[in-house]
Amino acid sequence: MLEIKPFSDNIMFFDTEFSSLNPYDGEIISVGMVKPNGEELYLELEFDSNVCNDFVKANVIPKLQGNPISREEAKKKIKEFVGGNKPYMVAYINQFDDVYWHKLFAGEENPFYWVPVDFSSLLFFHNIDPEKYLKEQGEMLDIEIKDTNQHNALYDAKLLKESYYKLIEKLNNAEK
Ligand SMILES: [Mg+2]
Repeated sequence: MLEIKPFSDNIMFFDTEFSSLNPYDGEIISVGMVKPNGEELYLELEFDSNVCNDFVKANVIPKLQGNPISREEAKKKIKEFVGGNKPYMVAYINQFDDVYWHKLFAGEENPFYWVPVDFSSLLFFHNIDPEKYLKEQGEMLDIEIKDTNQHNALYDAKLLKESYYKLIEKLNNAEK
């Protein structure tokens, strides 16, 4: 049987919250990152609250800690944390995370390797509904999920890290 073996261990578990699903208007509100060794970074960025959609107002804003920093300062802290070895960004349904990441670093060198990795593709190719998974993964992977914490970028990034390793382990054991 085919073993699930990720191409690289040089990865960063990554989640953002952002203000809109319209990429022309939206921007990053908060960033959560977790390295495979567990080191983590959480930042909130200053943003234009006029752009926020209703979902964001109801589900994201209440989970912010309320200490936003400038985008310039955020980029500096992100670069320090990511370092110079260009990890792959691993995110769950990553298109908005990646687009808003590129808006944040527009015209500057991308701290990540330029190819993003979407966790939902791993689910899709193992006959798991990528959307339902978020609701069912606790049961599937024996992970305790606190609904009230979801949409906090650091919580989501930590959940992604746990899910990534547990799912790979589960798939590999299932295929033996
Ligand atoms: Mg999130």
